[in-house]
Amino acid sequence: MLNRRQFLSFSAASGASLALSACYKAPNHPVPASQSAQGHYIWQNWAGSEYAYPSKRLAPSTLEELKTVLANSTAPIRCVGAGHSFNAQCATDGTLLALDSFSGLISHDAQQYTATVKAGTRLQQLGQLLEQVGQDMVNIPDINKQTLAGAIATGTHGSGYALPALHGRVQSFRLVTAQGQELNCSASENAEIYHAALVGLGSFGVVTEYTLENWPLAHTERQVTMLPVEQLFAEWPDLYQKNRNAEFFYIPFTGLAMKVLHNQTDKAVTPRGEDKDMDSLMDLKKLRDYVSWSPSLRRRIAQMVADNHGTEYAVDYGWKLLASERSVRFHEMEYHLPLDAQIAALKEVIEVIEKQRSDVFFPIEARVIKGDERAWLSPFYQQDTGSIAVHAYYEDDYQFLYSLIEPIFKRYGGRPHWGKMHSLADKDFALLYPQWQQVKAIRQQLDPQNKFVNNYTKKIWGLA
Ligand SMILES: Cc1cc2nc3c(=O)[nH]c(=O)nc-3n(C[C@H](O)[C@H](O)[C@H](O)COP(=O)(O)OP(=O)(O)OC[C@H]3O[C@@H](n4cnc5c(N)ncnc54)[C@H](O)[C@@H]3O)c2cc1C
Repeated sequence: MLNRRQFLSFSAASGASLALSACYKAPNHPVPASQSAQGHYIWQNWAGSEYAYPSKRLAPSTLEELKTVLANSTAPIRCVGAGHSFNAQCATDGTLLALDSFSGLISHDAQQYTATVKAGTRLQQLGQLLEQVGQDMVNIPDINKQTLAGAIATGTHGSGYALPALHGRVQSFRLVTAQGQELNCSASENAEIYHAALVGLGSFGVVTEYTLENWPLAHTERQVTMLPVEQLFAEWPDLYQKNRNAEFFYIPFTGLAMKVLHNQTDKAVTPRGEDKDMDSLMDLKKLRDYVSWSPSLRRRIAQMVADNHGTEYAVDYGWKLLASERSVRFHEMEYHLPLDAQIAALKEVIEVIEKQRSDVFFPIEARVIKGDERAWLSPFYQQDTGSIAVHAYYEDDYQFLYSLIEPIFKRYGGRPHWGKMHSLADKDFALLYPQWQQVKAIRQQLDPQNKFVNNYTKKIWGLA
């Protein structure tokens, strides 16, 4: 068995002795200028893959200001949340609009466990605010840096066989349209707009608040274990059916998976402790850098380290446990597949990566999401779903996501995550979403001058 320090010296020594033949070389990505020729400063997304030079950056603090901005600003007007989407949906050389001032809890119902929250609230802050009123979010993604509106607009999700994505618990929302009209949208009021604009890609107007259906605050138990991936595949249907939140990460070139389970518990708090994800990732990178020339050595070293992993255990409120820090940047493609197809597709993804892409070291993530009926553009619309997410380190090449991985996802009938990388356009979505044409008609009616349309969403809406 190796501990981490032994692992580092062992892999470094293997690398040093074989440095001439084995060193992995990252490609050179061009660095964009920090200012445009017109003197406008750059905006970039979290991953650094998308950028633009907005001529105006505005952060209205009242509803009246917001309406004035929408009436008078240069198009494309794009709302930005935390800029954590991996594609160019927020990019604009026109007006970049931030709702940071629209943040906080407006009201709550202690009997129904609902809460009305301003749309620019970050998920981490939301967890804290809800804790103060005895509530917690029903499902939580891997990180909590996103704004509520940004997360909901792209169908952001966690994992849970019986749990829908965040938008699946939105009872109502308030939308300000391009013409400055304010609309309450729910299943009983402006119902068509509610269904069309709930997962709305910032294309129907600016959302200022949501009413969420939450849970009573309760403790959650977290267990993280390493195991052979074949064993995990065999247990998977049982795991996701018997645990509230089940997910796993396959670690390429190791034959190993990390199983992550969260369940409600009455046990007392056992704090989560220091987050070691970044160290582990950098270890996997070193393994790639030094020994990717020998898949068997790479696998052996990883397995020795994994033997030493033990089980990570913690008890706390869900909002404190389910999200992690992701301080190592990456690019990501995630598709949502019919649940029955998830493991077959994942096996193909693993095979193609391990045969053709020895540079990949980021874990591949698999989750389950309950189907929902509320959002017509929900990737989980009327379908229980198994998702697969493939990542590439931010400095590495990520074109293989399009050339090798996406064709597999498409073949299995997958719908892409709206906030991540994909190459689909209007005609593809028309086949994937039964209400696609109706959604497009509602978007056109709410934004007849296409004020919210940028180059990226032009392709989505078939306006290119
Ligand atoms: C490290 C990392 C981890 C992630 N983990 C997960 C995960 O576990 N699960 C998951 O599903 N996704 C995950 N994502 C994806 C992420 O949740 C989505 O891309 C989400 O949209 C990001 O939220 P944001 O606030 O940054 O929104 P942005 O990317 O800034 O914006 C997203 C969309 O929301 C629109 N928007 C923002 N505010 C408003 C508003 N007030 N009114 C109308 N439209 C608005 C924007 O115009 C844009 O179209 C992750 C991303 C990163 C970088």
